[in-house]
Amino acid sequence: MLNVLREHFGFHGFRENQEEIINNILEKRDVFAVMPTGGGKSLCYQLPSKLLKGTVVVISPLISLMKDQVDAAMENGFSAAYLNSSLSVDEVFSIYRRIHAHTLDLLYIAPERLAMAHFFETLKAVPIALFAVDEAHCISEWGHDFRPDYLSLSTIAGNFKAIPIAAFTATATAQVQEDIIRKLGLRSPYVVRASFDRKNLFYRVEKKIDVEKQVLKFIGEHAGAPGIVYRATRDSSVTLSNFLSKNGVRALPYHAGLSALERTRNQNAFSKDEADVIVATIAFGMGIDKSNVRFVIHADLPKNIEGYYQETGRAGRDGEPSECVLYYAPGDAYKIRYFINQIEGEQERLTSEAKLTKIVRYASVNVCRRRQLLDYLGEQYKAKNCGTCDVCVGSYELRDITEDAQIVMAAVSGTGQRFGRLHVIDVVLGKATKRVIELQHNNVKTFGAGKHKGKDYWRAIFDELIVQELLITEGDKYPVIKLTKPGAAALFGKQTVMANMRPEIKTEVIKRVSRTEAGSQFEAYDQALFERLRAVRRRLADEQDVAPFIVFSDRTLHEMCRHYPTTTDELQNIAGVGQYKTDRYGDDFIKEIKAYLDNK
Ligand code: ADP
Ligand code: ZN
Repeated sequence: MLNVLREHFGFHGFRENQEEIINNILEKRDVFAVMPTGGGKSLCYQLPSKLLKGTVVVISPLISLMKDQVDAAMENGFSAAYLNSSLSVDEVFSIYRRIHAHTLDLLYIAPERLAMAHFFETLKAVPIALFAVDEAHCISEWGHDFRPDYLSLSTIAGNFKAIPIAAFTATATAQVQEDIIRKLGLRSPYVVRASFDRKNLFYRVEKKIDVEKQVLKFIGEHAGAPGIVYRATRDSSVTLSNFLSKNGVRALPYHAGLSALERTRNQNAFSKDEADVIVATIAFGMGIDKSNVRFVIHADLPKNIEGYYQETGRAGRDGEPSECVLYYAPGDAYKIRYFINQIEGEQERLTSEAKLTKIVRYASVNVCRRRQLLDYLGEQYKAKNCGTCDVCVGSYELRDITEDAQIVMAAVSGTGQRFGRLHVIDVVLGKATKRVIELQHNNVKTFGAGKHKGKDYWRAIFDELIVQELLITEGDKYPVIKLTKPGAAALFGKQTVMANMRPEIKTEVIKRVSRTEAGSQFEAYDQALFERLRAVRRRLADEQDVAPFIVFSDRTLHEMCRHYPTTTDELQNIAGVGQYKTDRYGDDFIKEIKAYLDNK
């Protein structure tokens, strides 16, 4: 196993769970593995193909991904091919010939292939090592990517009694997991549930003020790094993409309203590093295998934490540090709530509501983001300080806000608990607006009691009190703020109110601090050399019409930029450089590194 790992993948050790999964497959036992994105699933079913007799059949839902997957496997010295509706009749025949000649290590197929009777017959006539089901949650109606085609996979177990099935998914919910095992008919499978903690991702929430400018600024600070920006609507994805383009960013939009051709083109440009940023709706999903996505920005609030986790999961599959930023304004939650209220089924409406409440909490309460995400996924996070989220790196400090909380709550109470946040803030700030005068709220006792602080500060206090459930918002169209029972108790009693608040320093400073903190877990690398090696990678990828990250991942290049390998032996000590890639690309990279060192 270790030899194959080294020779074909260029890795020197397994990641968590990989070894056990492969061992079980080699013993012909079914496997059900839940691993987060970037956990290294594909290696688990590719590697056994070199140790078992016969072909590994991989069922994968997305035609657009198959070419990349096959390209990547071939780069690592596997004999691989795919069968799907994009091929011509001649191409299909040539692949059938290769199946019959038993020359394939890996055969990728689309699920609908299994609904064809003659295809089963073909497979029965040749040795099969394993059926690997990728994105196995597609078989479950409970999941978010249900595909009716996947139901035909339930016939595999009955038809191939002696051949193991290994199912992989990154979907965490227990309901979907049970459904997969049942529908695929897995026979007492070896079950793995990996941790969903993505250690290389830095999570951050920023106040959304002028989001287009904020996104532009962030991208400017990460110039040239590939990233995804998620937006809630098609229009806003196009508008933001145009805005970024006008400002010199290589950005492209992606949403379900674009033609299939345009979507493919934009996705390919992103995959090949020809566009740096994709501004997308959530339609931009499973089809992204690109391993070097360095940031995922949410310019609007996602509808729930599952979605947020999935979407941010597309960052940093190569294990290199990557950032996830959510720009949050409470107004976004009102918009989503408005749509939720249109849902007719009561159960569904309540579920959506509850989920929205949780993501709002994630965004507004200053508790370790990682802990909150994992908690939602049913995983307990043990460490006190994760070191890689805005809260844990000390962008916040615990403070006694009792006095200010009382000012706000007294204003809510004094105005009769019948007004929205903005109006109450006007009262707190002592603004004699038309409305304030009309309602004679300038006579409220706490009118102007908060003059010494800004509007943003009082908004933050409001958010905090809502999160702590001392205040509550009621109504959808014109939400009003009311005191809860504990709120009333806190107002009239002597209870202290504590909160993690942002110290009042410039956001600039916070960003800088948190970035170096995030980076400190990881070693630095030679940036100038990285740019040069990236260019080499790009040229080699273009020559073969594959995506650059298939030649070498960012992680592998970063490592070269730390160790400056100048011989084949040295190069092979770099993680991700196996025998096959050394033979193909070794000279080009060594030459570039030598030239760089000579001129240094
Ligand atoms: P998943 O399908 O689970 O999202 P992938 O199979 O795409 O993950 O793997 C994610 C990344 O991790 C790839 O760049 C892969 O090369 C790398 N990887 C997988 N296994 C190992 C390992 N044992 N050591 C180092 N890197 C690995
Ligand atoms: Zn944290």
